Amino acid sequence: MKFESKLPDIGTTIFTVMSQLATEHRAINLGQGFPDFNPDPKLLAQVTQAMSDGHNQYPPMPGILPLRQEVAGKVQTLYGRAYDPITEITITSGATEALMASIQAFVKPGDEVIVIEPFYDLYIPTIELAGGVPVVVPMQAPTADQPLYRVDWQRVRDAVSPRTRMLMLNFPHNPTGIILGESDLDALEALVRDTGIMLLADEVYEHIVFDGNTHQSVARRESLAANAIVISSFGKTYHATGWKIGYCCAPKALTAEIRKVHQFMVFTVSSPMQFALAHYMQDPAPYLGLSDFYQKKRDRLHAGLSTTRFNPLPSQGTFFLLADYQQVSDLPEAEFAHWLTTRHGVTVIPVSAFYQDPGAPGSNHQLIRFCFAKQDHTLDAAVAKLARI
Ligand code: PMP
Ligand code: GLN
Repeated sequence: MKFESKLPDIGTTIFTVMSQLATEHRAINLGQGFPDFNPDPKLLAQVTQAMSDGHNQYPPMPGILPLRQEVAGKVQTLYGRAYDPITEITITSGATEALMASIQAFVKPGDEVIVIEPFYDLYIPTIELAGGVPVVVPMQAPTADQPLYRVDWQRVRDAVSPRTRMLMLNFPHNPTGIILGESDLDALEALVRDTGIMLLADEVYEHIVFDGNTHQSVARRESLAANAIVISSFGKTYHATGWKIGYCCAPKALTAEIRKVHQFMVFTVSSPMQFALAHYMQDPAPYLGLSDFYQKKRDRLHAGLSTTRFNPLPSQGTFFLLADYQQVSDLPEAEFAHWLTTRHGVTVIPVSAFYQDPGAPGSNHQLIRFCFAKQDHTLDAAVAKLARI
């Protein structure tokens, strides 16, 4: 059959590729971002209870109201913004579906969408499927003096054109682990003022911010929130990435458009999980304690890597940290990651996979991404292997 691919340059996502390679070689998988431990048994019991209680048929299209109310309460408490659970909060099939539905709802053929590079790999194909044009603005890569990636907001501003429909943001940032400060929100406010540019804020790591910092959600500022879709994921927050449940908060008019797409993409999201999460969220302790929980793991991996020839970079948030391997190899990142799995039994993600052109020299900084959402013994076993290199 003859047909023209809609995504001719897209292969299988790097997370699947590296996890398959890890399985084939029985490597320790610190690549794809998922915990190697279970959610809280209390939450699991609540899912079972919800099933026994008969919550097994289609829930309402935007999600069950008690869960939307819990989300509204949390966002109000943490970020000071009151989203109406009836008209402004939608439960989605992970952050993935919230991103896809938002872009399908608002990006028309020829519209430009600004994306900050490195970026999560679904952003560009999702924009392209809608006929949009991604406009990529690179961050400044880390140097010896400045070991963190940095966003230059002036460069972002320079990328704005009359065709700019949307700016995609992802903080805490995958893969670099950088977070926003208040001055970044100031810069964003100045940037979008009077432009009508929509913000698509992927905040799936909102509860994983280290060293006493707080998450600067775009929901905190009226002028940003008025044109923003704010997305999160229960998968990250509750160690349940396989459940594929997330949500998005957006003003009523935007939410109405997102739901037009959501209802025909998935219609609604698994019922027992929604009931369980609605109960479980009543206790804020699990999400309020998540940063401390992961900070210990970050510190453990960082300290472990410091005893090897890998040089760990600081991570301000997320469950990822980057390390450079300049003392180990000159290989480009993708080849290095392959070699590390096949020869040394540790799987990581090449940071170049988060660039528009992963093979380009400018996308390769001898950096790999480690996921530390793992049991301590998993992290220790990986470090032991890396220490032999
Ligand atoms: N955005 C980012 C930045 C992510 O890292 C991920 C997943 N790891 C997602 C979106 C997708 O989240 P979900 O699994 O809830 O669809
Ligand atoms: N977001 C996860 C990561 O960055 C992967 C999710 C996926 O595999 N789709 O590793």
